[in-house]
Amino acid sequence: MNRDWHRQHVLGQHASREDRIAWHAEHARECACRPIPESLAVEVAQRDAASAGAGAASAADAARVVPGNTAP
Ligand SMILES: [Zn+2]
Repeated sequence: MNRDWHRQHVLGQHASREDRIAWHAEHARECACRPIPESLAVEVAQRDAASAGAGAASAADAARVVPGNTAP
């Protein structure tokens, strides 16, 4: 269990659904001492897929080679 992460990320009893989804998405990466509740799992997965997609797109942009600019 990642105690430091938990100390810094306390989810209040009255946190909004959006807060819970964000918390669990991050928790799964940083600690995962407990599973994501089934009622939130789908939305957490969607959130992860969305951020992974954005990351992949920008990585592809960064890796794009300009033709004619690679010759020594
Ligand atoms: Zn944990």
